[in-house]
Amino acid sequence: MLTISGDLLDRIIRAAEDALPHECCGLLAGRAGAAPGETVVTRVVPSANVSEAKREDSFEVDPQVRFDLMRALEGTDERIVGHYHSHPGGPAEPSTTDLKMAYETDLIWVIVSVKDGRAADVRAHGVADDRSAFHPIVLNRAD
Ligand SMILES: [Zn+2]
Repeated sequence: MLTISGDLLDRIIRAAEDALPHECCGLLAGRAGAAPGETVVTRVVPSANVSEAKREDSFEVDPQVRFDLMRALEGTDERIVGHYHSHPGGPAEPSTTDLKMAYETDLIWVIVSVKDGRAADVRAHGVADDRSAFHPIVLNRAD
Protein backbone atom coordinates (compact mmCIF):
# COMPACT_ATOMS: atom_id res chain seq x y z
CA MET A 1 0.00 0.00 0.00
CA LEU A 2 1.21 3.47 -0.89
CA THR A 3 -0.23 6.18 1.35
CA ILE A 4 -0.16 9.76 0.12
CA SER A 5 -1.78 12.92 1.42
CA GLY A 6 -4.35 14.69 -0.70
CA ASP A 7 -2.04 17.71 -0.97
CA LEU A 8 0.83 15.69 -2.37
CA LEU A 9 -1.44 13.71 -4.69
CA ASP A 10 -2.90 16.96 -6.01
CA ARG A 11 0.61 18.19 -6.81
CA ILE A 12 1.19 15.10 -8.98
CA ILE A 13 -2.17 15.56 -10.69
CA ARG A 14 -1.52 19.25 -11.40
CA ALA A 15 1.96 18.44 -12.77
CA ALA A 16 0.41 15.89 -15.12
CA GLU A 17 -2.12 18.42 -16.42
CA ASP A 18 0.42 21.25 -16.69
CA ALA A 19 2.91 19.14 -18.67
CA LEU A 20 0.52 18.47 -21.56
CA PRO A 21 1.10 17.45 -24.30
CA HIS A 22 4.21 15.92 -22.72
CA GLU A 23 4.59 13.43 -19.91
CA CYS A 24 5.43 14.91 -16.53
CA CYS A 25 7.74 13.11 -14.16
CA GLY A 26 9.23 13.37 -10.72
CA LEU A 27 10.42 11.50 -7.67
CA LEU A 28 8.66 10.34 -4.53
CA ALA A 29 10.39 10.31 -1.16
CA GLY A 30 8.87 8.46 1.74
CA ARG A 31 9.27 6.15 4.67
CA ALA A 32 7.82 2.90 5.96
CA GLY A 33 4.30 3.30 7.37
CA ALA A 34 2.65 1.75 10.41
CA ALA A 35 0.83 -0.99 8.48
CA PRO A 36 2.81 -4.00 7.19
CA GLY A 37 4.11 -3.27 3.70
CA GLU A 38 2.88 0.32 3.83
CA THR A 39 4.98 3.11 2.34
CA VAL A 40 4.08 6.71 3.16
CA VAL A 41 4.98 9.42 0.66
CA THR A 42 6.61 12.41 2.37
CA ARG A 43 7.79 14.47 -0.59
CA VAL A 44 6.83 14.93 -4.23
CA VAL A 45 9.78 16.30 -6.18
CA PRO A 46 9.06 17.39 -9.76
CA SER A 47 11.67 16.99 -12.47
CA ALA A 48 12.03 18.23 -15.99
CA ASN A 49 11.38 15.39 -18.42
CA VAL A 50 14.85 14.96 -19.91
CA SER A 51 13.92 12.04 -22.16
CA GLU A 52 15.70 12.20 -25.49
CA ALA A 53 12.87 10.27 -27.10
CA LYS A 54 9.48 11.83 -27.77
CA ARG A 55 8.31 13.37 -24.52
CA GLU A 56 4.72 12.66 -25.55
CA ASP A 57 5.23 9.01 -24.72
CA SER A 58 8.39 8.68 -22.68
CA PHE A 59 9.97 10.20 -19.62
CA GLU A 60 13.26 10.38 -17.83
CA VAL A 61 13.89 12.02 -14.48
CA ASP A 62 16.76 14.50 -14.48
CA PRO A 63 19.71 12.72 -12.76
CA GLN A 64 20.59 15.98 -11.03
CA VAL A 65 17.16 16.09 -9.37
CA ARG A 66 17.70 12.58 -8.06
CA PHE A 67 21.18 13.42 -6.82
CA ASP A 68 19.95 16.56 -5.05
CA LEU A 69 17.09 14.64 -3.43
CA MET A 70 19.38 11.87 -2.20
CA ARG A 71 21.54 14.57 -0.62
CA ALA A 72 18.51 16.22 0.98
CA LEU A 73 17.41 12.88 2.45
CA GLU A 74 20.78 12.08 4.02
CA GLY A 75 20.45 11.81 7.77
CA THR A 76 16.63 11.49 7.61
CA ASP A 77 14.51 8.35 7.82
CA GLU A 78 13.21 9.08 4.32
CA ARG A 79 14.44 7.53 1.10
CA ILE A 80 13.47 7.59 -2.55
CA VAL A 81 10.53 5.20 -2.70
CA GLY A 82 9.36 5.70 -6.26
CA HIS A 83 8.56 8.09 -9.03
CA TYR A 84 5.59 9.33 -10.99
CA HIS A 85 4.84 10.15 -14.59
CA SER A 86 1.80 10.79 -16.74
CA HIS A 87 0.21 9.15 -19.76
CA PRO A 88 -1.40 11.86 -21.90
CA GLY A 89 -4.35 10.19 -23.57
CA GLY A 90 -3.40 6.79 -22.13
CA PRO A 91 -4.39 4.61 -19.19
CA ALA A 92 -2.82 4.73 -15.71
CA GLU A 93 -1.21 1.38 -16.49
CA PRO A 94 2.47 0.86 -17.32
CA SER A 95 3.33 0.71 -21.01
CA THR A 96 5.66 -1.83 -22.61
CA THR A 97 8.25 0.96 -22.69
CA ASP A 98 7.79 1.42 -18.95
CA LEU A 99 8.53 -2.24 -18.33
CA LYS A 100 11.73 -2.00 -20.36
CA MET A 101 12.78 0.96 -18.21
CA ALA A 102 11.94 -0.71 -14.88
CA TYR A 103 15.49 -1.42 -13.77
CA GLU A 104 14.94 -0.77 -10.09
CA THR A 105 12.55 -3.27 -8.57
CA ASP A 106 12.39 -1.46 -5.21
CA LEU A 107 10.76 1.64 -6.69
CA ILE A 108 7.01 2.23 -6.87
CA TRP A 109 5.61 3.63 -10.10
CA VAL A 110 2.76 6.12 -9.88
CA ILE A 111 1.10 6.77 -13.22
CA VAL A 112 -1.48 9.45 -14.01
CA SER A 113 -3.88 9.00 -16.90
CA VAL A 114 -4.70 12.35 -18.51
CA LYS A 115 -7.75 12.54 -20.74
CA ASP A 116 -9.11 15.70 -22.37
CA GLY A 117 -6.69 17.86 -20.41
CA ARG A 118 -7.71 16.48 -17.02
CA ALA A 119 -6.23 13.80 -14.79
CA ALA A 120 -8.67 10.90 -15.09
CA ASP A 121 -7.02 8.19 -13.00
CA VAL A 122 -3.99 7.67 -10.77
CA ARG A 123 -2.59 4.24 -9.98
CA ALA A 124 0.47 2.79 -8.27
CA HIS A 125 2.45 -0.20 -9.51
CA GLY A 126 5.29 -2.36 -8.26
CA VAL A 127 7.88 -4.20 -10.33
CA ALA A 128 8.38 -7.97 -10.07
CA ASP A 129 11.81 -9.00 -8.80
CA ASP A 130 12.62 -10.57 -12.17
CA ARG A 131 11.37 -7.42 -13.95
CA SER A 132 8.93 -9.51 -16.00
CA ALA A 133 5.81 -7.57 -15.05
CA PHE A 134 4.21 -4.86 -12.96
CA HIS A 135 1.65 -5.53 -10.25
CA PRO A 136 -0.90 -3.13 -8.78
CA ILE A 137 -0.23 -1.45 -5.44
CA VAL A 138 -3.14 0.01 -3.46
CA LEU A 139 -2.98 3.80 -3.54
CA ASN A 140 -4.34 5.14 -0.26
CA ARG A 141 -5.26 8.82 -0.29
CA ALA A 142 -5.00 10.10 3.28
CA ASP A 143 -6.58 13.47 3.95
ZN1 LIG B 1 4.60 5.34 -18.89
